[in-house]
Amino acid sequence: MGTGIFSLTKKTALITGGGTGIGFGIAQAMINAGANVVITGRNTEKLLEAQKLLGENCKVITFDVTQKSAIPQLIQEIESTIAPIDILVNNAGIHLKKWALDTSDEEFENIIQTNLLSVFSLSKACARKMAGRKNGIILFIGSMAGMFGIDRVSAYGTSKAALTGLMQNLVTEFSAHNIRINTIAPGWIESPMFLSAINSDPERKQKITNRIAMDGFGTVDDVGHAAVFLSSAAARYITGVVLPVDGGASVNF
Ligand code: NDP
Repeated sequence: MGTGIFSLTKKTALITGGGTGIGFGIAQAMINAGANVVITGRNTEKLLEAQKLLGENCKVITFDVTQKSAIPQLIQEIESTIAPIDILVNNAGIHLKKWALDTSDEEFENIIQTNLLSVFSLSKACARKMAGRKNGIILFIGSMAGMFGIDRVSAYGTSKAALTGLMQNLVTEFSAHNIRINTIAPGWIESPMFLSAINSDPERKQKITNRIAMDGFGTVDDVGHAAVFLSSAAARYITGVVLPVDGGASVNF
């Protein structure tokens, strides 16, 4: 159980894509810090498996974040049947590894829908509630691909870079309501998405390994602990930052 200024006791967090990978790591770390979590995703089976591991402080809701018109109702339902949402973690995301010249407009739009537009809708719906309570935390999950160019991820990288622009603009409006918004930029973290993106590409794997200053890839727990810190009272005065959790990859030449 989390104690002191890093505790999330009595807090409720909504974590999109919380059934797998980084979202699961965040859910686990937040529960360890004392929070209750609601995890969402499209695949109910994956969510129920995660719930078995996470225990009684985890609720699951099957929900596709691209169903934007249903988002206000989702938030209303969680707030009235579970608890007010103190922390929103916009973690759900999809990846596309393709050369820009081979990427169709539809594929590009699809990535933007999930990784950017649903984040705006969810953040807006939660912030409306949080503003009334004058208290709230919103986290975005960015990427190294949003910080510098990487070949074959033009749609994905664009969606992640755009999150930084969205965060900066929301900070100027939401701070008056005591809502903090920060982005975690994970480096290369062992998750289903990461493994499927690099397992078939040893050259890319080598390039990434050379880039990371510390030893090895990150774990989902590394990201989870950063999420707990940014959501806790210890980060009371921190808003609008992009925090790399990357073993030094973003500064290593
Ligand atoms: P995963 O593929 O394990 O997780 C993605 C999660 O998002 C899944 O639980 C998936 O659940 C959910 N999801 C995807 N689309 C939707 C949707 N339309 N509606 C609801 N849920 C959805 O990958 P990661 O854990 O690696 O990725 C998590 C986040 O971290 C992403 O935003 C990713 O971009 C980011 N990231 C990951 C890095 C890494 O190295 N792993 C590096 C940098 C950033 P379901 O399929 O059930 O819908």
